[in-house]
Amino acid sequence: MMPVCRYVARLSYHLYQWELQQPNVGEESLTDFLLWQISQLPFVKYRKFSKREEGQQTGADWEWWFVDRYHALGLRVQAKRLRQNGKENFRLLAHKTRHGYQIEMLINSSKKKNLLPFYVFYWPGTMKVRCRLNRGREEGAFLTTAFDICYSPVRMCDFLRGNARQKEQASLNSGDLLSISNPLSCLFCCPAVEARLYTPTTALFEFIRMYWPIIDDYRENPDQPLGLHERPPRYIQVLLDSERIPDWFDSEYQRIIDAKAVLVYDMREW
Ligand SMILES: [Zn+2]
Repeated sequence: MMPVCRYVARLSYHLYQWELQQPNVGEESLTDFLLWQISQLPFVKYRKFSKREEGQQTGADWEWWFVDRYHALGLRVQAKRLRQNGKENFRLLAHKTRHGYQIEMLINSSKKKNLLPFYVFYWPGTMKVRCRLNRGREEGAFLTTAFDICYSPVRMCDFLRGNARQKEQASLNSGDLLSISNPLSCLFCCPAVEARLYTPTTALFEFIRMYWPIIDDYRENPDQPLGLHERPPRYIQVLLDSERIPDWFDSEYQRIIDAKAVLVYDMREW
């Protein structure tokens, strides 16, 4: 686990430098770089889809799966580049398409597919985060759940129900958003502490539940922890089984996945 931790911390440090030196770098470039770099790890499968206009309902940036011999854990991720200005952050997060508010679509589509709805924030970070190991001083990517943003403690979705004037006034400063987040490296560096008690996917799941306990409040079924699956869906199994991703993968699964990319972290040999 440790080499991966160092690899991801270093990658996040590159994002940090990029964001500091080029304040206008776009979130798509940052996401492409992040996912491409993670996909260079030997046990990761990555597929970025072509842009498609039609049928894309939720616009999630990627589905992120972690698979071991016992379970599969699935996340649905939306990435946002945070700004200095809190009102601008609110506008970014309150993004609306003709299908509705993006954050609510992320939550609804995630629950429907039994996935955990997550945000990745790009921010050259030196702010307080939840991680007890105090990571994240020089990282450029942070994670939190859509539940923490929409409901408690940020309660952004209350503002979405407000009138035009309330929405105009609404502000989310980066410090508040980072305070409910953890640096990306935390996902690869922190759960290992207790890994021996769990399988790799459940260690990750317990780590997520420890830092974002709100995920238990929004599961559909009390016996079914949101995001955990007995086995991965068919399209993830196809990625895991293939040395080279087959040509028909996109036409078969892009519509079902309904995200711009899919990333699979294969821990079956661990
Ligand atoms: Zn941590």
